[in-house]
Amino acid sequence: MINEREKGDKIMKYIPPKFERISQMSAIDVGRLTEDEARGILEHIRWPKGIVCPHCESTNIVRIEGKAKKVRDGLLRCKDCRKQFTVTVGTIMQGSHITLRQWVQAFHSMCSHKKGVSALQLQRNLGLGSYRSAWHLTHRIRSAMREDPLARLLRGIVEVDETYIGGKPRREFGKYNKRGRGTKKSPVMAMVERDGNIISKPIKNVTAKTLKSAIREAVSEESKIMTDEFRSYKGIEKDFKGGHGVINHGLGEYAKGDINTNTAESFFALLKRGVNGTFHHISKKHLSKYCNEFSFRWDNRKVTDGERTENAIKGFVGKRLMLKEVMG
Ligand SMILES: [Zn+2]
Repeated sequence: MINEREKGDKIMKYIPPKFERISQMSAIDVGRLTEDEARGILEHIRWPKGIVCPHCESTNIVRIEGKAKKVRDGLLRCKDCRKQFTVTVGTIMQGSHITLRQWVQAFHSMCSHKKGVSALQLQRNLGLGSYRSAWHLTHRIRSAMREDPLARLLRGIVEVDETYIGGKPRREFGKYNKRGRGTKKSPVMAMVERDGNIISKPIKNVTAKTLKSAIREAVSEESKIMTDEFRSYKGIEKDFKGGHGVINHGLGEYAKGDINTNTAESFFALLKRGVNGTFHHISKKHLSKYCNEFSFRWDNRKVTDGERTENAIKGFVGKRLMLKEVMG
């Protein structure tokens, strides 16, 4: 076998380009970020039009450079209120001992993997000290990914479906646990615009009252609702001008013209592959956070990994989670 390099070819040296925005970066570039570059990326996302004081909103800011004195990296000072701050103040990163480059890498990793990344995997990939800090990191990033459910109503053709996630294994102690509706698993609902955004969340039960009120809360009344024949959805057409299309899965139907719930089912397939393949077990308490994570990636499915990462990081301000809240 001929070694290409022995024929006198020049070996190309990888020269990392200078990036200001993570949206233009590939995984290899993200892996090579220095702490200062990571801070620059976060500052640019938090303050795209220039640094603003988080205390008084002044734009009269100076950077405190530490040369002789011992100064924290990235320290900024407001010349109006004289308070000091860094880019992590008031964010999910405040008080964290994880470096900024590890934060940015974790965001990129969770935004690039369709089925998610486990805390154990992140601990190994980023060289984090403990599983516990990796676990907190992933939950804080999930909170950054959380979108305001009231920000915009779903519209157009909206598919609605429910499924069951997690819970006990199907066969346990030689007995079979029930499948589908009526099991001890947690019901999860998805409402998804054809070719658009999704809202998915755990629900307490699958009664008509629960499902219909969730739909009315999330979907604009001009929309057309698509569901399967499940009885809890009966009568939903009264609340929506577009009416109600029903596909009868019990009769083996999967699509009747534009009537189907295939988009919602694709989402559930992805969520289940993540839950079973990546996370193995998800407690009821944390299920909504995983729904947020998968919904975020779904809504951002048409952009690059770098752009998706930038969109996730945009949510890092104003969602500071106390450790207690994460731990429950
Ligand atoms: Zn200030």
